[in-house]
Amino acid sequence: MTSIINGKEIAQNLRDKIKNEIIELKNIYNSVPGLAVVQVGNVAASSVYVKAKTKSANEVGIKVFDHHLEENINQDDLLKLIEKLNNQINVNGILVQLPLPKHINEQIVLDSIDPSKDADGFHPLNVGKLSIASHNDENLLIPCTPYGCLLMLKELGIELSGKNAVVIGRSNIVGKPMAQLLLKESCTVTIAHSKTNDLPNVCKNADILVAAVGRPEMVKGDWIKKGAIVIDVGINRIDINKDGEIKTKLVGDVKYSEAEKYAYAITPVPGGVGPMTIACLLRNTTIAFKNSNLS
Ligand code: NAD
Repeated sequence: MTSIINGKEIAQNLRDKIKNEIIELKNIYNSVPGLAVVQVGNVAASSVYVKAKTKSANEVGIKVFDHHLEENINQDDLLKLIEKLNNQINVNGILVQLPLPKHINEQIVLDSIDPSKDADGFHPLNVGKLSIASHNDENLLIPCTPYGCLLMLKELGIELSGKNAVVIGRSNIVGKPMAQLLLKESCTVTIAHSKTNDLPNVCKNADILVAAVGRPEMVKGDWIKKGAIVIDVGINRIDINKDGEIKTKLVGDVKYSEAEKYAYAITPVPGGVGPMTIACLLRNTTIAFKNSNLS
């Protein structure tokens, strides 16, 4: 029987652990981790994510500093705010919600965040540390979505070493760091992308298949090796006709109804990777707090 990897439950356990840790940290340091959340403009999906992140952070005892800026703010003013947050002692993590408006260069903004406060793990220094195998995961600020995927894989209690892993997608925020994390676990990693030849056959070789594409239900059941573990990162909104009414439904990059016939274990959408991403943001903020108190 295919096992459904319950991201909600695994994320809840991680949040509970972080909450207890923050109680202990408060007893030791008489302060709690602080997270600055910067949103520019009013992209609807960003507002949903910011709200969910803020709620979860508050629930575990992280103090949130909310900075919601006008869509037309200029890049220099945004950089000035980041500089201020870099120097603000009670801010341990800085999160800039992406995407930013077109007139702002995202990479310049991400590069301006103090690497020790990089709650998303996107700063080049943290990206570099992740790629250097000798760095210990415990203190690293790692991109939240791929780290959440790795924690779900570990939860299965399966030996990862030596497994063939295929990651579809080569973005800086999901695909590439996911591949690095799997490589650190001694998987044999293939990164597939939009120019990959014969993607179905590449996928069929995967003991672990991670789909991070952004194309609704692209990965079909017969692309999946019997007994593989499937992690579906995709979040796609599609319109469906329900009793004559058009409704929006969330689906992943994997055609779940087919894939569950082949997979040993699979993440659902929603309720899979999504909750893990937020829990890992709380983890990074807490690690940044601990690192700052140790340095
Ligand atoms: P992205 O657009 O930056 O990257 C998509 C990648 O898919 C690219 O590297 C591209 O080469 C590859 N690709 C595109 N078309 C392809 C095709 N036909 N065949 C093979 N590869 C193809 O997207 P992203 O930011 O990495 O996000 C990917 C998906 O994951 C999106 O659906 C996004 O919403 C979702 N996501 C979910 C979470 C979460 O918390 N669950 C977090 C981040 C992203």
